[in-house]
Amino acid sequence: MVSRVIPVDPFDLVIFGGTGDLARRKILPGLFRRYCSGQIPPQSQIIGAARGEHSADEFREMVAQAVREFGGGRACEDGTLDEFLTRIDYVTVDARGDTGWSELAGKVRKELVNAFYFSVGPGLFGDLAERLHRFDMADDESRIVVEKPFGRDLATAKALNASLAKHFDETQIYRIDHYLGKETVQNLMAVRFGNMLFEPLWNSQYIDHIQITVAETVGVGGRGGYYDKSGAMRDMVQNHLMQLLCLIAMEPPAKFDPDAVRDEKLKVIRALEPVLPHQIVRGQYGAGPDQPDYRTHVEDPSSKTESFVALKVAISNWRWAGTPFYLRTGKRLKARTSEITVVFKDAPHSIFGAEAGRHRNELRIRLQPNEGMTLDVTIKEPGPGGMRLVDVPLDMSFAEALGPEAADIPDAYERLIMDVIRGNQTLFMRGDEVEAAWAWTDPIIEGWQARGEVPKPYDSGSEGPTDAVAMIARDGRVWREIKL
Ligand code: NAD
Repeated sequence: MVSRVIPVDPFDLVIFGGTGDLARRKILPGLFRRYCSGQIPPQSQIIGAARGEHSADEFREMVAQAVREFGGGRACEDGTLDEFLTRIDYVTVDARGDTGWSELAGKVRKELVNAFYFSVGPGLFGDLAERLHRFDMADDESRIVVEKPFGRDLATAKALNASLAKHFDETQIYRIDHYLGKETVQNLMAVRFGNMLFEPLWNSQYIDHIQITVAETVGVGGRGGYYDKSGAMRDMVQNHLMQLLCLIAMEPPAKFDPDAVRDEKLKVIRALEPVLPHQIVRGQYGAGPDQPDYRTHVEDPSSKTESFVALKVAISNWRWAGTPFYLRTGKRLKARTSEITVVFKDAPHSIFGAEAGRHRNELRIRLQPNEGMTLDVTIKEPGPGGMRLVDVPLDMSFAEALGPEAADIPDAYERLIMDVIRGNQTLFMRGDEVEAAWAWTDPIIEGWQARGEVPKPYDSGSEGPTDAVAMIARDGRVWREIKL
């Protein structure tokens, strides 16, 4: 049931930061898996470009190790890795100097699709864009891929956009948010706009509220230095949760075309109400068994950065007026799960009387683990006697529905990189979208700073601070339990 693989056009892909963590864990193993599937034509070339002095052979060995460690163990014929490695090259390049650029320019074949992946810190984006032009590597057809974080506020995002716009048109810029590459996220659009069943009910008349939870079990780990300057609001809400919110809430685009989809997402962000202080709770994790607390992790005993945030969001438009969205994300929580729950309203009148209890339809969309959807439907509890009602799940696990081949569904990075090569920007963030998201986020962060707010402590392995429970309880609602 998995769709057949359609090969992309032959390409040359330069990965700036090719020796870095992201390239090793995601980009290179993902490219290998696409190669195995037959989607990458063998004429294509992948060139690592980074500051480290390595020979091409040393880099190939690095790639082989990355594939072995993070390759994912999918079926691949013997010898394919060796074949893939022949498509790999390496050039030592300094983004801030001219070292290596002429050599790199000599390797990129202009007659093929050219893509340049900026897997480096955002401080280097402008330098890379400028040198790609100065060394005559980029033309109107080339594409650049940029990683998060795309700025840390509106001003820095605007500056980044401007530095890229000097050299590349918006149609050439692919801002990655890997959440958009997840199968379920795309399925959200298929479910909403490919079926008659849901869309007529998809509004404040029938939906009581929507919850979006992205929970991690890990702490900040080795990223403490970076994370402490960022926090959950910048690291997760401004981008990933915002994108999920947009896809859930947007109006149907006229067609599935990059700008049509992104125009509708932008309208959602622009319709967001400012968040008031009582509608948001920040938290910071405490110590767990054999694990230090957040402040020890980031080596700042007085850090006020949040590792958890829960907020109530209102979208001021005809569709959603009166239906709140509750967003929650954090580290060191009870389970690693990402889930969207759409809670429908009660039936207007219960013909079964009070003893039947309160029953509601819930549509749960799981992003991880075990991507799929569940719809709770109320039925009669089987057996003799009175009319007792029970909610049963109609469960659609994609892995089960699609059979063993589902293991071959590309992960987010694989899919997104292939979209870059195909020139399809639908699942990438446009510059104005990113700026609008920052324009909404900035006042929230500035408010915390102005008030000198300290995040509420929460236990590692819990569901976050009790204030987050109290926040939703004030509205007579409860969070869905964070569980696998
Ligand atoms: P990293 O520190 O592991 O690697 C950085 C890479 O950039 C190295 O290859 C290094 O050689 C290269 N580099 C640094 N300075 C350079 C220069 N002056 N010229 C040329 N190359 C230079 O970083 P990473 O974790 O791979 O992250 C890369 C980017 O991806 C960052 O923007 C990061 O925020 C983003 N990102 C990373 C992850 C992740 O899981 N690692 C997830 C999301 C986003």
